[in-house]
Amino acid sequence: MAQDATPHDAPPHNAVQVNGRAYPIIDHAYDVVVVGAGGAGLRAVVGCSEAGLRTACITKVFPTRSHTVAAQGGIAAALGNMGPDDWRWHMYDTVKGSDWLGDQDAIEYLCRNAPEAVYELEHWGVPFSRTDDGKILQRAFGGMTTDFGKGQAKRTCAAADRTGHAMLHTMYGQALRHSAEFFIEYFAIDLIMDDEGRCRGVVALSMQDGTLHRFRAHQVILATGGYGRAYFSCTSAHICTGDGNAMVLRAGLPLQDMEFVQFHPTGVYGAGVLITEGARGEGGFLRNAEGDKFMERYAPSAKDLASRDVVSRAITLEIREGRGHGPDKDYVHLHLEHLDSALIEERLPGITESARIFAGVDVKEAPIPVIPTCHYNMGGIPTNMHGEAISPRDGDPDAIVAGLMALGEAACVSVHGANRLGSNSLIDLVVFGRAAAHRCAELIAKGGTIPDLPKGAGEAAVARLDRFRHADGPTPTAELRLRMQKLMQRDCAVFRTKKVLKEGVKAIRAVWDDAADLRVTDRSLIWNSDLIETLEFDNLISQAAVTVEGALAREESRGAHAREDFPKRDDAKWMRHTLSWADYGTHEVRLDYRPVHKFTLSNEVSYIEPKERVY
Ligand SMILES: Cc1cc2nc3c(=O)[nH]c(=O)nc-3n(C[C@H](O)[C@H](O)[C@H](O)COP(=O)(O)OP(=O)(O)OC[C@H]3O[C@@H](n4cnc5c(N)ncnc54)[C@H](O)[C@@H]3O)c2cc1C
Repeated sequence: MAQDATPHDAPPHNAVQVNGRAYPIIDHAYDVVVVGAGGAGLRAVVGCSEAGLRTACITKVFPTRSHTVAAQGGIAAALGNMGPDDWRWHMYDTVKGSDWLGDQDAIEYLCRNAPEAVYELEHWGVPFSRTDDGKILQRAFGGMTTDFGKGQAKRTCAAADRTGHAMLHTMYGQALRHSAEFFIEYFAIDLIMDDEGRCRGVVALSMQDGTLHRFRAHQVILATGGYGRAYFSCTSAHICTGDGNAMVLRAGLPLQDMEFVQFHPTGVYGAGVLITEGARGEGGFLRNAEGDKFMERYAPSAKDLASRDVVSRAITLEIREGRGHGPDKDYVHLHLEHLDSALIEERLPGITESARIFAGVDVKEAPIPVIPTCHYNMGGIPTNMHGEAISPRDGDPDAIVAGLMALGEAACVSVHGANRLGSNSLIDLVVFGRAAAHRCAELIAKGGTIPDLPKGAGEAAVARLDRFRHADGPTPTAELRLRMQKLMQRDCAVFRTKKVLKEGVKAIRAVWDDAADLRVTDRSLIWNSDLIETLEFDNLISQAAVTVEGALAREESRGAHAREDFPKRDDAKWMRHTLSWADYGTHEVRLDYRPVHKFTLSNEVSYIEPKERVY
């Protein structure tokens, strides 16, 4: 059943009392409630509903408009369709790409299960591009090699340059085949936790009609995507505000490795729109204003297909040293015009359109102006390999938070460590989406009673909504959001120093403090209102705070976290995950650390010892 599903066990209306006002609330009960209908959420929804669990999916946008729709280049799996390949080589590349911050047991799980997850998508109907002999077409992507770093692998399975679009449409169709129930344009506000620290459900607002809803469930799965919108220039959509991450912080739980933010080397200058790495995989290359193919200097073997952090830093250095293009010498050129036009039409139609619309460039005639742009969040809600949220308790760094799971870009398993390889996110969504569904099927007895909610459930969430509805201070939300975005871009982007990060910590804290005087003008409880934007800003600001604090504390350079004052990786001190908590009352951030898993899952592979990461 699609939109406006009939709720299970739903007494028509209850009420939550807040500040003397009674807010009517509609109750629902499900075995599993998935928040998010991107690739990760939909994969979990399909798996849970297929297993016979009563499954609801809450999403603030229509499923096929989730941000996964923007994924262009493809999904990584060692199928070996274009030459020899092996999941162990994929594992080696992912460990190296993560700059040894990834947990190797989780990386083994990802790479070993990737081929099966891709074949499953194929069987469900994803229209992958094909080789002449009918196999799934695979293209080269940065950091993906053969034979443990010796050659360039073609491992990224593509549906032209619209892979995410194809996946979402296929998986939404599959979810509708089963009995999953969708609550579309419902905005999840907060988790419902009980006194024992167990997650019991979630409170949401229907942006269609302003009604409030309380969902109780055995398991809540957060698949709410990344928080790219904390930055001024980003490749992600307006909806990417990391709402699930902020719900976790408000529940008193930690986020992990938030200082690791990936900047994609090729965002269209001035617009942020992404030009996929697949463009360089097909033979595109970068040049500075002196006509120099500068990647040959920074990564003599991999050149333009070095890992993203390496290419982003190279572009930033070229620009800083005055070799950028344009009146302000602040971008470089991506050349595709030497490629065969039939290849461009067949394999890169989407980026041809993006370049025309956002840069006014015909890629067959002229280069595209590009600049590194915030693209992906390696950090998120810490989980184990089954998608279960974890938080340190009683000396156990990996203690499970009962009733709560997280997936996709919202989660930190951690397979991407300090730097994600291109095409490794889409595979993360489906491999761990599937693992989480299997776990739910193991944990939840079919048709069993769903426990009642604790007393006062949802009051804190509705109180938060009520506070913003009546916020009549001097500062509009949009002003505070812009301040935060510009500060994050200035103080916590590609290159970082103690001085700049310290200023960033102070300045972000000041923005958060100033939010006490917010003004919300359009208070309606429906989509696009100032109130919704305020809820999203309130989610972003805590994530900005933990990101910049984590970056200041980490005195080394690793993956996407490049400190000019600490240019080397320091495994002795820093091969550990950052855990960060943020207090929504005092705006204080607290940091602690969790050991990186230095072991594999099976004895088919051994732990890959750290070494210098050169391409
Ligand atoms: C331009 C671009 C191109 C990319 N290309 C590739 C690629 O080729 N290969 C690759 O591997 N990766 C790629 N990535 C990365 C990848 O697309 C993302 O990391 C991935 O799609 C995230 O999927 P997700 O399911 O975690 O979240 P999303 O797809 O962002 O979905 C989040 C979902 O959560 C819902 N949601 C959020 N907040 C709330 C709330 N408060 N209440 C209710 N619902 C909520 C949204 O409605 C949405 O359904 C690309 C990223 C970008 C920006």
